[in-house]
Amino acid sequence: MKESLYSLLELQEIDKEIDALERSKEEFPAEIGRLEGELDEARGKIDATEKNMGELESSRRLMEGELDAINADLKKHQDRLYEVKSNREYDALQAEIEALGSKKEEHETGILQSIEDHEDLTTKLTEDKDVFSDREKEIKGRIKELKSRLDSVEGDVSKWQRKRKRLEAKVEKPALSAYNRIRRMVKGGIAVVEIKKGSCGGCFRKLSPQLLVEARRINRVMRCENCGRLTVWKEELPV
Ligand SMILES: [Zn+2]
Repeated sequence: MKESLYSLLELQEIDKEIDALERSKEEFPAEIGRLEGELDEARGKIDATEKNMGELESSRRLMEGELDAINADLKKHQDRLYEVKSNREYDALQAEIEALGSKKEEHETGILQSIEDHEDLTTKLTEDKDVFSDREKEIKGRIKELKSRLDSVEGDVSKWQRKRKRLEAKVEKPALSAYNRIRRMVKGGIAVVEIKKGSCGGCFRKLSPQLLVEARRINRVMRCENCGRLTVWKEELPV
C-alpha cells in the first residue's frame, strides 16, 4: 500500500500538469483574443486621430479659399470708395467693407485655430504611435509564444498520459479508484495529500490520533475525517 500511495502522489502531480494543459486550450485562445482586441482598439484610436487631422486640413483649405475670395471682394469694395458720388452710397459701401472685414477676421482666427489644433494632434499622434509600436511588439511576441505553446499542447498531454499509464500500474486498484472518485469531487482536484505535522495537507485540520497511527503504518487507504481526501504519511522517512 505504501508504494501505491506514494505513486498516487506522483500521479496527482501528472494530473495537475494535464489539467493545466487542458485549461490552456481555453485560456490561451481567450488571451490571444483579448490581446488582439487591445491592438485593434489602439489602432482604431490612431486611425480616428488621423481622420480628425484630415478633416481639420480640408476645412482649413476651405476657409483659406473663402478668405481669398473675401480679400478680393474687400479690395473691389475699397477701390469703389474712390468712385462713389454720394454720402449715402459712401456709407453703404463702408458698412459692406466693415462686414467683410469682420468676416475676414473670423476666417483668419479659424484658420489659426485649425493650424494649432492640427499641431496638437500631430504631437498626440506621434506619442500614441510610439506607445502603440512598443505595445504591439510586446503583444505580438506574447501571441507568438501562446500559439506555439498551443501547438504543442496535444503532444504534451499525450506525453503526460503515457507517463500516467505507467504509474497507474504501480497503484493498487482500490486506492486508484478512490483517488479517481475523490478527485472529481474535491476543489482543485487535489485528492491525495501528505500528512504534515499531524494535520491534513488538504484542509489543514488536525487528524485524529487513531488515524495518524494507522496512516503511519500505511497498510490501508486512510481518508481525512474532515475533507475526505486520501492521506499519506511521509514524515520521518528513512533516508
Ligand atoms: Zn482534510
